[in-house]
Amino acid sequence: MRMRRRRPTEPSGEPGRDIARLLDDARALLREAGVTPAELSAVGISAPGPLDRARGAVVGPPNLPGWRDVPLRDALAEGLGLPVHLENDANAAALAEWRFGAGRGFDDLVYLTMSTGIGAGLVLGGELYTGSFGNAGELGHLPIEWDGELCACGQRGCLEAYVGGAAWTRRLRACTPAGSRVAALAGDSAVKPEHVVAAAGEGDPFACEEIERFNRYLVRGLTALVFTFAPQAIVLGTIVAAAGEGLCLDPVRTDLAARVWPLLGRGLVVRAAELGERLPELAGLCVAFPEA
Ligand SMILES: [Zn+2]
Repeated sequence: MRMRRRRPTEPSGEPGRDIARLLDDARALLREAGVTPAELSAVGISAPGPLDRARGAVVGPPNLPGWRDVPLRDALAEGLGLPVHLENDANAAALAEWRFGAGRGFDDLVYLTMSTGIGAGLVLGGELYTGSFGNAGELGHLPIEWDGELCACGQRGCLEAYVGGAAWTRRLRACTPAGSRVAALAGDSAVKPEHVVAAAGEGDPFACEEIERFNRYLVRGLTALVFTFAPQAIVLGTIVAAAGEGLCLDPVRTDLAARVWPLLGRGLVVRAAELGERLPELAGLCVAFPEA
């Protein structure tokens, strides 16, 4: 049985109140489904990182004000009377794409998604690689330009500062020419990467230059990843999935193949994420049943 309930992220500033609302939602969903908590085996939570995995705590994600060191796993386990598993959302997404999406069949996989920031996860040797403290795979903060653009993390020149959705959006708002096709597509709303993707699809020169810049910086990051992990596959979400083969995937494959050793590039699969709207629920499922 599959049921879903979705609500925007609207933190109240008080984690206790937010958790009570999560519990209310979960119980209401169970009632709708006619299922009692006793009939469930496990609960999986895909939460924004960084996390303290050992304690099952959310440490302090930038988009959840007031959430500092919140023991989310135990609070939900107590509220529901069930075993709860917690994983950061990027790792959970990597697991979901690996088990159900574009990463099926690969043992060594790098997943990157360019939404607000960059979410990334590593599946190595057929399992999620979390590193010694559980926060491996922060690939968005690979430096790709010494002393480059300031990143939200406080460092300069991170991959995220060039190809992350929020950083690119900021840049577009500053540099999109008035009267360009991108500005026309945005209309009264603020310019976003999706307007650039649409305008580039129509051949608009400014949009095409922006996409080329995006691809160029993405390849810098991917080159480091290919030399480090020698993955079988790289799965790319959001902006790349939206831009598709002609604008993004083809040029990225070609440029990447030219920059890595043939031994590492031969047979390397670079493809768009597949799960789209189904990602959140499948990510939670993968977290609930990590060994399945
Ligand atoms: Zn950074």
